[in-house]
Amino acid sequence: MCKGGGRSMGGGKGMGKGRRKPPKKIPGKYFENLKRVVMDNYCCNCAACVAACPVKGISVTSYSSPPYFPGWEDNCTDCGFCVRACPRWDYVPLSGTGSYVEALAVKSNRFDGQDGGAVTEILVSAMEKGIVDFALVVAGDENWKPSPLLTGNVEEVVLSSKTKYSHAYPLSALKGLKGAGSERIAVVGTPCVVSAVRKLQAEMGKFARKIKLVIGLFCMENFYYPELMKFLKEKGVDISSVEKMDIKKGKFILRPSGTSFPVKELDGIVPPGCRVCQDFTSVQSDISVGSVGSPDGFSTVLIRNAEYLDLVKSLNAEFGEVNLDIVEKLANFKVRIHPIK
Ligand SMILES: Cc1cc2nc3c(=O)[nH]c(=O)nc-3n(C[C@H](O)[C@H](O)[C@H](O)COP(=O)(O)OP(=O)(O)OC[C@H]3O[C@@H](n4cnc5c(N)ncnc54)[C@H](O)[C@@H]3O)c2cc1C
Repeated sequence: MCKGGGRSMGGGKGMGKGRRKPPKKIPGKYFENLKRVVMDNYCCNCAACVAACPVKGISVTSYSSPPYFPGWEDNCTDCGFCVRACPRWDYVPLSGTGSYVEALAVKSNRFDGQDGGAVTEILVSAMEKGIVDFALVVAGDENWKPSPLLTGNVEEVVLSSKTKYSHAYPLSALKGLKGAGSERIAVVGTPCVVSAVRKLQAEMGKFARKIKLVIGLFCMENFYYPELMKFLKEKGVDISSVEKMDIKKGKFILRPSGTSFPVKELDGIVPPGCRVCQDFTSVQSDISVGSVGSPDGFSTVLIRNAEYLDLVKSLNAEFGEVNLDIVEKLANFKVRIHPIK
């Protein structure tokens, strides 16, 4: 079950020292660079640029497009932090299962989740043990509209469990995070969000100091919320009656009705930013969590950062074995369906 050297994946204090020179530039302000190169092509909607922009000019203006800086021509100070924070600038896709110290199937004894509730169990345990004070999760309303939530309240973390198959622009919740103060934050996100956190940590000291734990989800693809809702409406789905959405064995399944259709039917609404991503397992996380590889009702947990081995092993949970061949198969499949052009 052991693979890799158990290296620390954390951003670490002081990461990025000496790297503060401005990135290379094409003509125009940095925001215009970002817009032309990334946002107009393959933005992953992580919203790291929103978190990084010191004048708070970049914001999430719509749930069906990348963030934007209204009035950037006049108000962008051309500091370059948006470009530095962007995981898609100078993008080199990551792939594979990455290195990890241990793989475990985990089922929380306390919390219901998308699979085994492992993410929620890890977050709550980390808060209870004083490893972190806040968690950045993705909450959802009664119509499954996702919204990022930075919270120190365990109940809110528990209520935010389960997968929302829509871009939530999670790192926008870190906008305005002050450098002073000793808050310790855990972040949950898809592979692109994990890469974005690593860039934020490398480029800006406050993120390196405050983000202590990065939980990466397995992810094949994500969708823009309005597009997904339109698709489901056309299928006759009453979204407010859905208690859980799932993708299993090539099918998009809605519970409790059991309505399902081939996930391939969603191909037309996969956003451009997902079509270039090859990272299925969030290789840069401290702990990766997914569905495939474990029995129903369990989550697959890959502990990459040895610092968190004790945390996972002491969870109030049942443990089992992971089928790593399936995880690897899916990781390779993602590379095949998103070839580099
Ligand atoms: C868009 C997407 C696609 C996925 N695709 C796959 C896949 O193809 N194969 C696979 O094995 N697993 C996939 N997963 C992971 C899987 O759905 C579960 O999230 C994972 O198994 C953890 O389950 P759990 O019961 O341990 O988590 P829970 O305890 O239910 O916690 C889930 C956590 O994820 C957070 N979250 C929910 N939606 C989002 C979101 N949109 N963005 C960021 N965070 C979010 C919640 O806030 C919560 O903290 C995907 C997840 C997402 C978000």
